[in-house]
Amino acid sequence: MPKPFLLIKIVLIANLLLVSSFSVANSVDNQRADDIFASIDSGIAINDHAQYLLYLDELDSLVADSDTNRQLRKNRARCWSFDIFKEGEVTKALDFVEHALTHPLLSQYPSHKLDLALCQSWYTEQNGNVDLALKGYDKAVSDAYALEDLRLVADARSMRGYLHSYQGNFTYALEDLMTAQSLYENLNLPAWAQLNLYEIANAYRRFGDQKSAIRYFKRLEKDKRKSNHLDAANTISVSIAIAEEELGNFEVAKSRFEKSYQYWRAKGDDMGQATVGVNIAGTLIQLGELDQAKRYLDLAKPFIASNDEGFYGFMHLFYGQIYLAQGQLEQAHENLHLAQTAFIRVKNMSGLAQQLKLESSVFVKQADWQNAYESLNEYVKQHNELDTKLLSTYTTEMRTRFNADQIEQENLHLMENQQLKEIELAMLEQNKLQQWIIILLGGLITIIISVFAYKQSQKNKQLSTLALTDDLTQLPNRRYIYAKAEIYLEQALKHQSPLSAITFDADYFKQINDNFGHEVGDECLKLLANTCRAVLGSQYQAARVGGEEFLILLPNTDKDAAFEIAQNLVHQVRMANLSKFPQGFSITISAGVASLSNDPEELHTLLKRADDALYRAKHEGRNQARMG
Ligand code: GH3
Ligand code: MG
Ligand code: MG
Repeated sequence: MPKPFLLIKIVLIANLLLVSSFSVANSVDNQRADDIFASIDSGIAINDHAQYLLYLDELDSLVADSDTNRQLRKNRARCWSFDIFKEGEVTKALDFVEHALTHPLLSQYPSHKLDLALCQSWYTEQNGNVDLALKGYDKAVSDAYALEDLRLVADARSMRGYLHSYQGNFTYALEDLMTAQSLYENLNLPAWAQLNLYEIANAYRRFGDQKSAIRYFKRLEKDKRKSNHLDAANTISVSIAIAEEELGNFEVAKSRFEKSYQYWRAKGDDMGQATVGVNIAGTLIQLGELDQAKRYLDLAKPFIASNDEGFYGFMHLFYGQIYLAQGQLEQAHENLHLAQTAFIRVKNMSGLAQQLKLESSVFVKQADWQNAYESLNEYVKQHNELDTKLLSTYTTEMRTRFNADQIEQENLHLMENQQLKEIELAMLEQNKLQQWIIILLGGLITIIISVFAYKQSQKNKQLSTLALTDDLTQLPNRRYIYAKAEIYLEQALKHQSPLSAITFDADYFKQINDNFGHEVGDECLKLLANTCRAVLGSQYQAARVGGEEFLILLPNTDKDAAFEIAQNLVHQVRMANLSKFPQGFSITISAGVASLSNDPEELHTLLKRADDALYRAKHEGRNQARMG
């Protein structure tokens, strides 16, 4: 018995040794490339974009064409590298990703494919097609959950949350961003967690909770300054300024904007300067410094492209506001129209509401009451919609907070699954030879176990047959028939079906032994068993329950039918062919029959009644059957 186990143990150890040696010898080693990928995954692009671009170029020379997995990872990284603020880059990015998505082996790497799809949605959003982008994000989120790729769940939900927040759907924005936040933190991706936190702060700002927003922003700003990420610190400072402005703290806002403006100017970053310039203009208008505001806008204008809808829209909105104040009404209309187109295109509802209100004021100044009314009407409609959104956000925010535990639980569950998936993946990525060895060894183990199990089951079968069969007559023994009887009884009671029992005993058997010897006695018992089998067929079960006592169970057979069978049995024994037996040998049996009455009954009382009938048969002359 211990032999097969020893063999299995040896095979398993051999297996382990092979796995470890082959995995080292055959995996395609590219440590430098993998280090770069790790750095990209952890967010180098956020804090050092120039280094990110250098890495991408290095990867081009590091990764072989035949190394499909790393080639596709490289494409992923490249996809996210386009500078959306540069003219023509978004179009280039969209061309790139469209081409990357046609890679013939992409479907074998669903995570790579999904990240490219997400990247495509991002540039689609940057291109102003927000509806399509949102559809893409929705699909990316559900695909990422299906793949149980937590990193992609976080990315997709973060980006979708960002878009929702921008569109004023704070309900969805907060749910997405908070989920992404806890995932980034759990996955230990601090750079991405910070970026997402920035979006949460922005969502709070848009949601109207400026104080919370400023608290988050200040925390982030401090982190960024500490780690010497000054570009990011300045971007955050601009966000703080916007929130301060919304609180009515125009001077505080102005001073923050100006500091940021100087920072970009010193760096020679025209785009940074232009975007802050648009923001300053807004604050200056509030402070009544219109000339100063217009100067900032004029400086910004050459750098703000029409496909940068946010800044483009507000730039023209502010121009419109200035022209309105200065009485240049046609000029104001022209700018407000440009602002409206931009806001509608990116569905910036709060921008659109401000635009409509201003437009109405321009019409009022022109005494064009009809148009003034229509614009105002439209404004009220937009405003109401925004209000409903804000209202629903209050309840939703409660729900989001309430659901935080659940989200945490779901994330934990996903993390656990992810770990399992990673182990599976690591297994899959082992080379083919090793897989074959595993399959072969696995097959060998299976064969050994199967053979062993088969033998064991055969042996068990034999043992159980032995345990339940009478050796001499090969009829079932007492143990077997009693167990069977319990089952028959239960079924009969349950289905209200008849059940009968016949018990029979050889007549004057002692004398047979005494006159012809024990061996003839044994042969006689075999004769009784064979006669029994012949009379009963396969329908009924007979067993030897004592020395020369037998029991027959007859399910679904009533008293009369059973009695007939018993009589037939007595008859057949009396008429048995005794040619093999010594001269003068004869044998008869007596039988007792009992059937289940209508009353509930236990096995032992049924058998007792059969025994009583047998006793009467003996008593009344033997060689006969009696009914109990
Ligand atoms: P009765 O008609 O009243 O049944 O009389 P009987 O002689 O058959 O009496 P009883 O049933 O009490 O006797 C059973 C005898 O069966 C006792 C024993 O010697 C014999 N016997 C029991 N088992 C075996 C066996 O395996 N082989 C042989 N040859 N005889 C057995
Ligand atoms: Mg007897
Ligand atoms: Mg007896």
